[in-house]
Amino acid sequence: MKDEYHKILEFNSDPESQLKILEEVTRISDRVPFFKEKLTASGLTEFKPAGIQVLQINLGNLCNQACKHCHVNAGPAKTEIMDLKTLKQCLEAIRNHRIPLVDITGGAPEMNPDFRWFVGELRKLDKKVIVRCNLTIFFEGAKYNDLPAFYADNGLEVVASLPFYSADRTDNMRGKGVFEKSVQGLRLLNENGYGQKDSGLMLNLVYNPSGAFLSASQKLLEDEFRHILFDRYGIEFNNLFTINNMPVSRFLDYLLRSGNYIAYIEHLVNAFNPVAAAGSGSSCGGSIV
Ligand code: SF4
Repeated sequence: MKDEYHKILEFNSDPESQLKILEEVTRISDRVPFFKEKLTASGLTEFKPAGIQVLQINLGNLCNQACKHCHVNAGPAKTEIMDLKTLKQCLEAIRNHRIPLVDITGGAPEMNPDFRWFVGELRKLDKKVIVRCNLTIFFEGAKYNDLPAFYADNGLEVVASLPFYSADRTDNMRGKGVFEKSVQGLRLLNENGYGQKDSGLMLNLVYNPSGAFLSASQKLLEDEFRHILFDRYGIEFNNLFTINNMPVSRFLDYLLRSGNYIAYIEHLVNAFNPVAAAGSGSSCGGSIV
């Protein structure tokens, strides 16, 4: 059965082909219902707009890493970058719609040449700003070394992706040596006040599963991360968010190649939470919160 699906669902990275794959699997599998059916069964017939509280802006898919699970296919050779004109339009929308919170992601958003300018403009508008940071960007040369201080000076909230508290699992997903650099990056953030009591500088971590399975309990993992990161490395943080990987882009390719696609979709369907569907969700660069 797995082979049969794999043959039908050959991976192609453009968005339309990926949507076709998702539709196709629903059509051919009697174990995967349409999202609409799940909503109706939960008594939710439609989504209703509840005002814009957060604007998440992806500044481009240029990144110093190329993680296995990345759902935006980001990497060092990517060229899609949000230009200045579009950033100005975003500012206009933020102003006109009085959006209180702006969540900046990528790729590595700091690699967009207008990143610092954009943060400065958001500060002038007195907006709360979150930056999704992969922690290794600080070590990509002089241009990026002062980022922890820049974040602190501008009062940014940092959401940092750290797949796990061990080198093997983190490096397997993100590349050799990434865990060690991430630890150094977290230390720099701590030194600049992040995650420290009464500093007001929030440092939140994001965990995501390293294979075709869903996250364990957020509370349990947060306790585990807190305990181990402090004991082994002296690192402190505020909260840990657990996320599940979207079955798109590189992660979709992995699911198809490994024959885990249908089983993973079933996990997602069985974990459907109507309360979350009625509220809202948000998303590091290449993973979904
Ligand atoms: S997952 Fe994040 S850090 Fe990794 S390649 Fe994608 S955007 Fe870059």
